[in-house]
Amino acid sequence: MQENSKQSYDSVLTIATSDSGGGAGVQADLKTISALGCYGMSAFAALTAQNTQEVRDIHEVPPQFLRDQIDVVVEDFEVDAVKIGMLFTGELMQVVADCIEKHNLKNVVLDPVMVSQSGAQLIKDGAIAVIRETLFPLADLITPNIPEAERLLGRELEGEEQMKEAVYDLLDTGTGGVLLKGGHFKEEQSIDYLSIADENPELHQFKAKRIETDNTHGTGCTLSSAIAAYLAKGYPMPKAVEQAKLYITQAIAAGSQYRIGGGGGPLHH
Ligand code: PLP
Repeated sequence: MQENSKQSYDSVLTIATSDSGGGAGVQADLKTISALGCYGMSAFAALTAQNTQEVRDIHEVPPQFLRDQIDVVVEDFEVDAVKIGMLFTGELMQVVADCIEKHNLKNVVLDPVMVSQSGAQLIKDGAIAVIRETLFPLADLITPNIPEAERLLGRELEGEEQMKEAVYDLLDTGTGGVLLKGGHFKEEQSIDYLSIADENPELHQFKAKRIETDNTHGTGCTLSSAIAAYLAKGYPMPKAVEQAKLYITQAIAAGSQYRIGGGGGPLHH
């Protein structure tokens, strides 16, 4: 095939952590990115020894090795979008911030992962301030759920009005956009709010009917990588979020039919 007749391939780099159980983390990201027709690349910040019931251990990579993984990918591949997931330590967050700036990476979607559904702490004490100060301003979108937003803002959130205020308060961190996910409220409908930083930030609402299932392991990872995949394809932010929400709803529904592991199972991509 001639060089100029080759097709381009929209590509997404995930900078995140391995879930040995395959349901969350980099594994969920790559499944999502592939399912949405993009080319997926990965840089690992840490490895977890994990199944659907527990996170038994976490092993972080040396900071220079995370830097090498990102550098070597960017030197050879086009990167159309970046998904950032569990980075675990402040030092690794700093490396990612340096790399985003150095390589001028675009379409950066950041999932501020903190605690797993099985209850494990996925961010080191002290690193929350680092993620907020160094990475939020470099991200085009952050995707906190309610417990994450509560820890970031240092207050409890109840009901729609407080969620809307929280979106604007999180925009004040200097990030490019906020998608606050309301799924943890356990209402019949889950409502997410999106706002993008500009002179007069509008509030977009996304409603989805709740699917009754325990198989939601990896939901946050999947949503943020689906948004990154749609951004890589060139969708504007609100449309990318809308399409990613459709994808996740369908993946949760499809996964609800399976029994994989003894705890909350994964989605089906
Ligand atoms: N493990 C890894 C490596 C993750 O990145 C995440 C979430 O981002 C989780 C586990 C937690 O997934 P969940 O809370 O859906 O169980």
